[in-house]
Amino acid sequence: MRYLPVFLDLHAGKVLLVGAGELVRAKLRLLAAAGARVRWYATDGQHDLAGLAAADAARIERADGDPLAADLKGVIAILCAGAGDIGVAMSVRARAAGLPVNVMDDLDHSTFIFPAIVDRGDVIVAVGTGGTSPVVARRIRERIEAVLPARIGDLAGFIGGFRKSIHGVISDSLLRRRFWERIVDGPIGALVLAGRKAEAAKALEAIADPSAFAGATGEGKAEGHVTLVGAGPGDPDLLTVKALRALQDADIVFYDELVSPEILDRIRRDAARVAVGRRVGKPGIGQDATNRLMIEAAKSGQRAVRLKGGDPFVFGRGGEEVTALRAAGVDYSIIPGITAGLGAAAQFEAPLTYRHKARRITFLTAHKARDAEAVDWSALTDKTMTVVVYMGMTAASTIRTGLLAAGRSPETPVGVFARVTRPDAKSAVGPLARLPDLVKTIDGGPAILIIGDVVAQSAPWRQSNPTKILSELLEAAE
Ligand code: SAH
Repeated sequence: MRYLPVFLDLHAGKVLLVGAGELVRAKLRLLAAAGARVRWYATDGQHDLAGLAAADAARIERADGDPLAADLKGVIAILCAGAGDIGVAMSVRARAAGLPVNVMDDLDHSTFIFPAIVDRGDVIVAVGTGGTSPVVARRIRERIEAVLPARIGDLAGFIGGFRKSIHGVISDSLLRRRFWERIVDGPIGALVLAGRKAEAAKALEAIADPSAFAGATGEGKAEGHVTLVGAGPGDPDLLTVKALRALQDADIVFYDELVSPEILDRIRRDAARVAVGRRVGKPGIGQDATNRLMIEAAKSGQRAVRLKGGDPFVFGRGGEEVTALRAAGVDYSIIPGITAGLGAAAQFEAPLTYRHKARRITFLTAHKARDAEAVDWSALTDKTMTVVVYMGMTAASTIRTGLLAAGRSPETPVGVFARVTRPDAKSAVGPLARLPDLVKTIDGGPAILIIGDVVAQSAPWRQSNPTKILSELLEAAE
């Protein structure tokens, strides 16, 4: 992020505007509509205020003389539009004076840029593209316009009017946030959005015990909660709507190293983030410590999220964590995620079941050769069973041995699917006999193995074996 969006207080001073023509008039309209006080140096001497409302025009001071010699006292920002070389010279002056400056269509001489704006009263949404594409910014703005309720600004204003009094009666900041969430998400918020502000105010004033309304515990604290959230295999667009909401509502997030940075980016900015879990070969916060941290967070009234790669209940220790939470009497809920096996199946087009040909699926883990040896391979002899192996990279050769011993054909198609749904996803496909070699061609995990005839349908298989027609293999499966 090169440009940090901030909001300039137009009551703090004047905006100095320099330029001429239609470009400067567009900026004038924007500033006037925003309620800014403007001192305008028209570089062509034409101070044309036509089309502006009288009240807006009254806030515009028409300045003559050289803008480069202008008094900068009380100026909070400088804008140049259609000012030619004077814009560049103004930029040098503004920087020397430490004032933010924008020279229209000239990023090199600007220290700030204008976003596309959604304006709903107290609610302002600014959309920027780092100056790369105003068209993209406008398209995004259109989408935001379409999803925001028309009276969202009224809702913000309504809350603003009651903030002080509620602050006076609820001292705990977490509890206060809960209070406002319940207002915004509940019937009172709906009344404001429906344009019935007076009724909403009455209903809010009628809340006899705001702390209780916010769900306070006996000690007047916010009620804590832990949500186990499945983050999916990596692509942030594969988060469920519920998962996204939990991340946005969290006070603290305990996340695994498997969770991609793009997903961490979706966490509420002010939430605390704690990396937990152990990654192969590296020390970290172990399971007991993780359980303890979650319990402590919930007991102190925080809304904790335990964010896990894939699904929490698929080789994710979600079961153990829920047991610990239950034992500690902590309130919890679980939001499923797309497990890596399903992510791989979708991305690489390997259906896990196929009518008559693939009737069963087994998900297993074989982290170390020792685990792989403990697997009862004889249960996996069925040719119509698709086998999905988690953490199977290091034990690849033991897995091959086990499946061959169980009577699976060395020709059985297998796929190694790494970093699925991420930008650097990779795959290797081939016959079971070559599984260890396939794993070696993958530069780093996490990776999932899919074993079974259905892999012959996958996109990488179709690309690498164009002559080996799928139907042949499926025929053979019968
Ligand atoms: N709960 C997770 C699994 C955790 S076990 C889930 O449901 O997906 C960790 C293993 O998951 C890794 O060793 C790897 O086999 C698999 N895995 C997780 N993310 C993956 C990804 N993006 N691509 C491929 N495999 C992944």
